[in-house]
Amino acid sequence: MKYLVQKFGGTSLATPELRELAAQKIIAAKKEGYSPVVVVSAIGRQGDPYATDTLLKFIGGIYPEISCRDLDNLMACGEVISGVTMVAVLEKHGYKAVFLTGGQAGIVTDDSFTDAHITQVNPALINKYTADGAIVVVAGFQGQTREGLITTLGRGGSDTSAAALGVALNAEAIDIYTDVEGIMTADPRIVKNARTLDIVTYNEICQLAREGAKVIHPRAVEIAMQKNVPLRVKCTFSDAPGTLVTSAADNGSVEIKRDRVITGITHIPDVSQLKVDISGWAENDYPQLKIFKAMALAGISVDFINVHPDAAIFTVKDDVASKAVQILENMGFSPGVTPGCAKVSAVGAGMAGVPGVMASILEALAAENIKVLQTADSHSTIWCLVRQDEMEKAIRALHNYFALGE
Ligand code: ADP
Ligand code: MG
Repeated sequence: MKYLVQKFGGTSLATPELRELAAQKIIAAKKEGYSPVVVVSAIGRQGDPYATDTLLKFIGGIYPEISCRDLDNLMACGEVISGVTMVAVLEKHGYKAVFLTGGQAGIVTDDSFTDAHITQVNPALINKYTADGAIVVVAGFQGQTREGLITTLGRGGSDTSAAALGVALNAEAIDIYTDVEGIMTADPRIVKNARTLDIVTYNEICQLAREGAKVIHPRAVEIAMQKNVPLRVKCTFSDAPGTLVTSAADNGSVEIKRDRVITGITHIPDVSQLKVDISGWAENDYPQLKIFKAMALAGISVDFINVHPDAAIFTVKDDVASKAVQILENMGFSPGVTPGCAKVSAVGAGMAGVPGVMASILEALAAENIKVLQTADSHSTIWCLVRQDEMEKAIRALHNYFALGE
């Protein structure tokens, strides 16, 4: 069986006209001899009747105490509605189509409700229906525990569903259809001249995705990479080739140019910087250890960590900042907090060993009078913390400086 996994995001399915465009992509694949396995997100975005955020707002507004376990049953509804609708569209065109929930499609997860991880895929039902000539449409973003309880996979989880199915079915490719032309050098909503990248490596896109390029979920990339199944990010509304994600080492006839110093600029908004002065603490009191242990125990994830002998500096999401401050104050610390920050990152596999990249970044930001609150770097990423009201300016400044639009 020549499988092709085709995943459609919520904005690509928002109206009957858009669903028609999506159906045409599926029908084209079928005509080319593929067995398409279609993964759908919930229809639309917040405000649309069955979008995930709308369902969350509905229940959260009246019954905020609902358990994560029960919440997952509600959140899984959006994709079911979307999938059944897509089956109807395909059948209207005369194609045999079958809908499966994530669980029915064989997606097994752990029991971390609302943010479950896929542990196994048993695609027996998919194989059965495709062998029968049907197009299988699977509800994305959801799975089922071993006991049969419904789980959801966290934000961007439909990408992960598609990747897991692609790997389990040994698909020829996993196509992620969305509302932009592919993976771009920056978020096109912020940078007007952002350019679509023709080809990127799994590692590069993983890094871009982890640092905020929400066009694809990093977990999806990691899963596809395990079995080297090519990922393609494409636009539902055009015939542009999109972006091919592959491994540099095993790219068949695809020519990969020398690694780019900077591939793209990404951003993560809504973070707070915490600075904890520990100069008054005795070394054998292990103040740094105490701080990070306390954050871990409270389930607060920390990022952008700089530890010095007399200070611990890190970021947390804005919405947990006051909880973090409270915990630290209860422990006897007096943390300084700067809310409303954003992490802007320059990502590129080719920056390792290239001198002067950090200097260039600081120069680009200084030229726009953007204050840098903190930096960090790895072999493929340089992170800068800036004030959120300067975030867009910082992204554009870096995009321009490195001429990524050309
Ligand atoms: P979908 O509903 O199809 O999953 P998402 O909203 O999750 O769509 O992802 C697509 C959006 O990601 C685009 O509309 C774009 O604004 C945003 N985006 C952020 N960074 C990038 C980037 N580097 N390349 C492309 N899109 C990006
Ligand atoms: Mg998405």
